[in-house]
Amino acid sequence: MERSPIEEIKSRLDIVEVISSYIPLKKCGANYRALCPFHSEKNPSFFVSPARQIWHCFGCGAGGDIFKFVMMIEGVEFGDALRILAKKAGVELKPISPEYQKLKTERQRLYEICELACKFFEKQLEGKTGKEVVQYLKGRGINEDSIKKWRIGWAPETKKALIDFLVKKGYKKEEIEKAGLAIKTESHEYFDRFRGRIIFPIFDINSQVIGFGGRVFKKEQGAKYINTPNTLIYDKSKVLYGLDRAKVDIRKKNFCILVEGYTDTILAHQAGFENTASVSGTALTQYQLATLKRYSDNLYLAFDMDIAGDFATKRGIDLAQESGFNIKVLILPKEKDPADIISQDPKEFEKIVLNAISILDFYFQSAFSNFDKNTLEGRKEILKILLPVIKRIENKVEQSFWVSKLAKELDTREENIWEELEKLKLEER
Ligand SMILES: [Zn+2]
Repeated sequence: MERSPIEEIKSRLDIVEVISSYIPLKKCGANYRALCPFHSEKNPSFFVSPARQIWHCFGCGAGGDIFKFVMMIEGVEFGDALRILAKKAGVELKPISPEYQKLKTERQRLYEICELACKFFEKQLEGKTGKEVVQYLKGRGINEDSIKKWRIGWAPETKKALIDFLVKKGYKKEEIEKAGLAIKTESHEYFDRFRGRIIFPIFDINSQVIGFGGRVFKKEQGAKYINTPNTLIYDKSKVLYGLDRAKVDIRKKNFCILVEGYTDTILAHQAGFENTASVSGTALTQYQLATLKRYSDNLYLAFDMDIAGDFATKRGIDLAQESGFNIKVLILPKEKDPADIISQDPKEFEKIVLNAISILDFYFQSAFSNFDKNTLEGRKEILKILLPVIKRIENKVEQSFWVSKLAKELDTREENIWEELEKLKLEER
């Protein structure tokens, strides 16, 4: 009888090898031991048995086989753990049904196209304009290692250099369009979507290239950034840029720094803040929050936030609050983003991270600095911002703390605030 892929993978991989690629293991008699990656401890109570091919932690009780370990350490579902380990073991996973097979093949080809395109863009950095791009990136503080690590590239200013390259590799123009890399004109002509742009590949949680962001370079026309549209493998609302490289550090430090752009993320990692990821457009979605939740409940936001005006940002924060995240805000100097600060002085950014304030404090500060509490209009605006936020707090003790603070600031009775809270209906989601 044929062995199942799970058995096949287990027979090919050694548990000690798999686990030690994540955490350092020390030999201890017939077994190996380590500090448990799943709870914090000073003395190792995490054991691996090569004879039985299992692991167990006597501190927190976690344990199982290699699949369980990868699921927990990567924070992924069983299917993802299966794929990760199958790749490691060189085991091919058989499809479940013909429809799935077709979809799988189509997806697979899109992954291949994205990977090849990424290599193509990287290669272009060696050309004349490519070298200027490298100089530009260095000028922004991104060093050579980071350029390689994040696989930054250059899309030449030609009509279809990439399409020609991919067609030669055996892919159809229709597929290249489906991968989001080609645009079809009304006269059924195809041309490259990314032209004359610095390319930031976007990775999924397993570091596979699934899409691209392109930044203008040396020209005035066109949007500053363009992105791959949603495809079979890329969904903007699901991806967090850099999370694949940040996840281990997020779990280790037990908080995630969220920034706004590619360069912010790259520079943060370069300066040692490897628990940083970014959102495009800053509107956090339910899906992204659920993904982050696998790694930590603590979010530090380093956005440029205008809570009175920016509803998308605020909605994302509301969602995060409702999903039970503890949210802190980094107070950045005016007109500066994390990239500016880090490239000038990483120590300064560290200080800002240490001095992050709670989201409630942030709302209070913003509301009272944006509006005049001594005018009726101002008071209304302040209440409009703060009441919904206070209403969302689940902990009653915490809630009454903020009610009394608000009453004091507005020089009114607490009962009035409670009454207003009672009346307030939160928008349905
Ligand atoms: Zn443990």
